[in-house]
Amino acid sequence: MKLLRFGPQGQEKPGMLHSDGSIRDLSSHVSDFAGETVSLEALTALAQIDADTLPVVTPDRIGSPLAWVPNFYCVGLNYAKHAAEAGMDMPKEPIIFSKASSALSGPNDPVIIPRGSDKTDWEVELGVVIGREALYVDEANALDVVAGYCVINDVSERSFQIDRGGQWIKGKSAPSFGPIGPYLVTKDEVPDPQSLNLSLSLNGDVVQDSNTSDMIFTVAQAISHMSQFMRLLPGDVIATGTPSGVGMGMKPPRYLRAGDVMELQVQGLGVQRQTAVAAD
Ligand code: ZN
Repeated sequence: MKLLRFGPQGQEKPGMLHSDGSIRDLSSHVSDFAGETVSLEALTALAQIDADTLPVVTPDRIGSPLAWVPNFYCVGLNYAKHAAEAGMDMPKEPIIFSKASSALSGPNDPVIIPRGSDKTDWEVELGVVIGREALYVDEANALDVVAGYCVINDVSERSFQIDRGGQWIKGKSAPSFGPIGPYLVTKDEVPDPQSLNLSLSLNGDVVQDSNTSDMIFTVAQAISHMSQFMRLLPGDVIATGTPSGVGMGMKPPRYLRAGDVMELQVQGLGVQRQTAVAAD
């Protein structure tokens, strides 16, 4: 299933993309998508619904496929060439950090360049949505706790992240810095998360172009590793790292300016399109 949320910001309803290309309203079956309503049990129940019986809708806007997230985690420096362009060593074990959950944003909503920023940057990533509580899960069973996958732009302010000290969360968390979607694609449609092309274009020029086979730590390894330190919860999101081609790695560096348009895709998971705008 390709689950989504549609409608004006703050008034989204749950829906799904039908195989005929239409969007169908699921609000008579589920209140919203977040936390337990995207657990594996809840998704199994949703899969029993005959999609042909659902009302067709033609919304003006697709929102984040999750109304809120318990936690928004990220894996850092998970592609070798990106670690090199960032001037950092290849990590020996996964680098885990958080993004403020309030950064969650729709896939096509504007990305707001925050006040005081001159280094706002892009990062296309494969996103993982957790579907079952996970603590001390081993690598062989790690994908069993996955509900599905989505496209993520791990928008990052490099000065806030690196130059200003402290934890990376400071540069990862401004409002609109976490576009996810357009869909939560359930894992039955993604048999191998390590074979997906992913790319990002800036104003029509492809700047990131890679495949999840290039990850240093696989999705299963990252989940298993994280679960040694924290309990993962249904509805948690994990951004699994970005390949090379971010603005920080360009010579000279190229950061977002108002009016820039980013288009992101991960194979089979849909397309995001965001325009950068200046903060008020
Ligand atoms: Zn990232």
